[in-house]
Amino acid sequence: MVYAADEQRYEKLPYRRVADSGLILPALSFGLWRNLGDEKPLANSREVMLKAFDNGIFSFDNASNYGPSNGTAEETFGAVFQSDLKPYRNELVITTKAGYHMWPGPLGEFSGKKPLTASLDLSLQRMHLDYVDIFYAHRWDPNTNLRETAEALDLLVRQGKTLYVGVSNYTAEQTAAIAEIFDELHTPFIGNQVSYNMLNREAETTGLLDVLDAHHAGLIAYGPLAEGLLTDRYLDGIPADFPLHRTNSFIADNREAYVAKLNALNAIAQQRGQTLAQLAMAWLLRDPRVTSIVIGASSVEHLLDNVRVADNMTLGAEELAAIESILND
Ligand code: NDP
Repeated sequence: MVYAADEQRYEKLPYRRVADSGLILPALSFGLWRNLGDEKPLANSREVMLKAFDNGIFSFDNASNYGPSNGTAEETFGAVFQSDLKPYRNELVITTKAGYHMWPGPLGEFSGKKPLTASLDLSLQRMHLDYVDIFYAHRWDPNTNLRETAEALDLLVRQGKTLYVGVSNYTAEQTAAIAEIFDELHTPFIGNQVSYNMLNREAETTGLLDVLDAHHAGLIAYGPLAEGLLTDRYLDGIPADFPLHRTNSFIADNREAYVAKLNALNAIAQQRGQTLAQLAMAWLLRDPRVTSIVIGASSVEHLLDNVRVADNMTLGAEELAAIESILND
């Protein structure tokens, strides 16, 4: 059946401008890291992606190494784009990244001119696109000089292969350093995609949010639910084999204390008539400098649970204080 997007899609979720740029992102973006790759049936991936778009999620986040097998998440996106989303290209913000291991050999990773430019060409092919909206350098490259990385990203804008550029997993200092080169080159730098959630607040404590704001860029938060911990799934315990992202690895040694925090947060969510996932996302969105949060979900049920954050995004001073005391306990 020919897909026709829900006509009310822009009434379901708020959207936010990235600083004073022309780019606007939905409060929730949809990520394809490991939920819709080669291990998942395409029919399910299609259903979840289209449901996301129908619910106001007009931004899809990818990377050349997402799958689990490299390139396969982009292929999944490309298949659904070809079959259904292509007529909506002007509405979509499609993002991808390069920098983690992509292909064999020393030029298959990091942020030199060769890996960045070659990777974006492959991403465009896999996704059946002429351009992406944001292209990110996926991680800090300790060996390539920063000017080369910035100039490679700038070149890709000049070539029309991406509209904006970003960085990902850069510290506050690294972000400030590359933003200064972007300012000099007049590169449209849009922001830093980093891990940020109730359990991992480095974006606040390191001054990253302030650096981004000073450079007219936004913070795009990944892992908002700490890979699913900030949901009602782990209130009885965090399994030993839970696949924690490296940015949340500090939780591994202190599981019981974190389960206690999850339960205390869940009690606040219940008082607000929300799920813990919705509270965790409303809390992130309390700061307008967080321009979008990238969620991952492999079922429509989880996706819709997350979209319903829009029903109650306001947190009062007392609720914020109560959350703060749980998180600092
Ligand atoms: P989340 O913090 O949203 O965690 C996703 C997990 O939470 C999945 O296991 C999902 O389960 C579960 N989940 C989602 N919603 C619910 C719900 N309502 N109730 C119960 N469980 C739920 O994000 P991810 O860590 O997956 O990251 C999201 C995206 O961020 C990635 O796809 C990627 O685009 C980006 N990212 C970027 C990184 C970078 O280096 N730049 C690194 C990591 C992620 P289920 O699959 O069963 O629905």
